[in-house]
Amino acid sequence: MSTQSFNPFKMAQSQFGHIADMLDLDQASRELLRNPMREHQFTIPVRMDDGNVQIFRGFRVVHNDVRGPGKGGIRFHPQETIDTIRALAMWMTWKCAVIDIPLGGSYGGVTCDPHNLSMREQEQICRGWVRQLAKDLGPLVDVPAPDIMTSAQHMLWMLDEFEAIRGEKYPGFITGKPVGMGGSQGRREAVGFGLIFTLREALKELGMRPEDTTASVQGFGNVGQHAVRLLQQIGGKVISVSCWDQKDNTSYCYKKESGIDFDELFGITDRFGGIDKDKAIGMNYKVLPGEDWLAQDVDILIPAAVENQITAKNVKKIGTKVKIIAEGANGPTTPEADKIIAERKIFMIPDLLANAGGATCSYFEQVQSNMNYYWERDEVLGKLDVKMTNAFESVLELAKKKKMYMRDATYTIAVVRVAQACKDRGWV
Ligand code: NAD
Repeated sequence: MSTQSFNPFKMAQSQFGHIADMLDLDQASRELLRNPMREHQFTIPVRMDDGNVQIFRGFRVVHNDVRGPGKGGIRFHPQETIDTIRALAMWMTWKCAVIDIPLGGSYGGVTCDPHNLSMREQEQICRGWVRQLAKDLGPLVDVPAPDIMTSAQHMLWMLDEFEAIRGEKYPGFITGKPVGMGGSQGRREAVGFGLIFTLREALKELGMRPEDTTASVQGFGNVGQHAVRLLQQIGGKVISVSCWDQKDNTSYCYKKESGIDFDELFGITDRFGGIDKDKAIGMNYKVLPGEDWLAQDVDILIPAAVENQITAKNVKKIGTKVKIIAEGANGPTTPEADKIIAERKIFMIPDLLANAGGATCSYFEQVQSNMNYYWERDEVLGKLDVKMTNAFESVLELAKKKKMYMRDATYTIAVVRVAQACKDRGWV
């Protein structure tokens, strides 16, 4: 989990500052883009199942909407803070710009732990969150989506509340809805699959064949699971997966040298992406300390859990064979760790690019919802592949041309697009 001293917003600002310096960005654009345009912080009172009322804290931040309505997830997490949400909102602005979809960057959340909440209590939190924000959300304003510990069910409760308040149907209000209730085919797997599309392109660039590679993954939730599934389908071997253990309040790394069996491991995973340790031991998985996921002798590392996982403290533990890091999580690598990774010439597919499949497919879902006409799964995933591959190619081209670290090239494309849109609209 994020440590208390780690501030994701400071990290996002420092990443932006580095690129702003490189681009020699003017002062007004810097100030505009360094901070969110709008922020909401509010309370959500919920009558709990035991009859008591508990007050939860809710957030929504719009970092920048110059290129289109805000777009970004809602996270339920016990350690949620406004600064995590600010960072995530800023990263969404860059992500939508680099993947080139006409949306801005926002994010939201509630400080809560769904592990300890009944479904009814979670429904009340969802409805309370929408009630506080109904005037500031909508298909043409700001469009939420799922993230850590929020699911299609949460999105549907939120949609229902929004439509009850507005008295009209608004299927484009929120994305990540259940298929058949305004959701898009392919949305569930979009982040993990999108990540593997970019990884496939990186392997081509490095002259490696997927079937000759091994990988280690951190996180076995929505993103990690689908990434593992597609990577195995294209021939890659995943030898370890780490995840959080709620009971022991720590993380473990589950390892099988011969390659993990996705279905077997999925079968003993709860809805929060936690693996049953005792059952895993029974299935002959070696159980290692959680942080060992990055010390494995593999070609590919996929951080797909939370932010602040590859840091100055542990970056030297990265296995000597590692050639590619593909970031499924948002902000898993700190700028200090980035320096060492760049020096080691490990090929980085940064979060803004690697996990942009969620934002892209959310955009597809919004388009379909607004038309009230839905595409087949293959069409959605085909369009996703085109978007991810095109974005990867533009970033790679710039990185090669200017001899840049892939994260810097990704940021450069995004910041230039957003700053230019601010100028074109006459904001600065
Ligand atoms: P999830 O809640 O479905 O799964 C999270 C996984 O990470 C679980 O397996 C959990 O056990 C594990 N985990 C949590 N803390 C850990 C720790 N300290 N060490 C090891 N494992 C830990 O979440 P998700 O939707 O898969 O999201 C994962 C990451 O991907 C987040 O950073 C999220 O912001 C990012 N992301 C998600 C989406 C999306 O649409 N779901 C889109 C883009 C990016």
